[in-house]
Amino acid sequence: MRLQILGPWVLAPLDAAGAAPSYLVSDQHTTCLLDCGAGTLPLLQSMNVLPHLDAIVISHMHHDHYMDLFPLANTLSKHSLRIKLFVPDFNGRSILTEISNVLFEGDNRFSKAFEIIEYGVKDELVVKGLHMTFQETIHSMTCYAPRITNGNKTIVYSADSEYFPEFSQFAQGADLLLCEATFLDPLPGHMTGEQAGTIAAEANVGRLVLTHLRDDMDVNEQNRQNACKVFLGTVDLAVPGAEYRI
Ligand SMILES: [Zn+2]
Ligand SMILES: [Zn+2]
Repeated sequence: MRLQILGPWVLAPLDAAGAAPSYLVSDQHTTCLLDCGAGTLPLLQSMNVLPHLDAIVISHMHHDHYMDLFPLANTLSKHSLRIKLFVPDFNGRSILTEISNVLFEGDNRFSKAFEIIEYGVKDELVVKGLHMTFQETIHSMTCYAPRITNGNKTIVYSADSEYFPEFSQFAQGADLLLCEATFLDPLPGHMTGEQAGTIAAEANVGRLVLTHLRDDMDVNEQNRQNACKVFLGTVDLAVPGAEYRI
């Protein structure tokens, strides 16, 4: 399996090289996009991913995690492409319908570009060779974190969440944990580097990659060092363009 970091930045792209939250997970025959924050589309275009993209999975409907669905809908329609779009059952479809009504004057631009499928926390999504199960996180909006496996290797993505022990059970034994570390000090709805490291240690994962990073690299590096104090494996900060093969 392969994980590619497109967008490690919280809220907005930091520069042309890196988007707001977005990640590609793929195996030999399958390519899935996790979240689609601002700045994702130009990166997908420059990597020529769109013709091969099998599905998009949105963790939750905070704007920084799905903003580039708007221009992506236009681009897909123009090229007569239609992609599976999995959105949370809590509010995914209703928000897209409202936006479509306002921005696209109700012409259902989203349903033309995407096969919109609502998913719940108990669902198992199968996209060709990749299987996904979910854990509801603790966040200011209903948010589902995916555990993705090809039957051999496993990647877990925290999406947005504060620390809670059940997440360590959900992430148990993953080869790679892509975990948010937004703040240096604990705040509701998000994690610190130390808390991400605690989950990595409790779950005994192979490798920890910190993401959902702010534009203060000193804070990010401090979070990485704090994670290293509790997790003895490799801890990286997510970097745009980084690629992990597991
Ligand atoms: Zn959020
Ligand atoms: Zn977020």
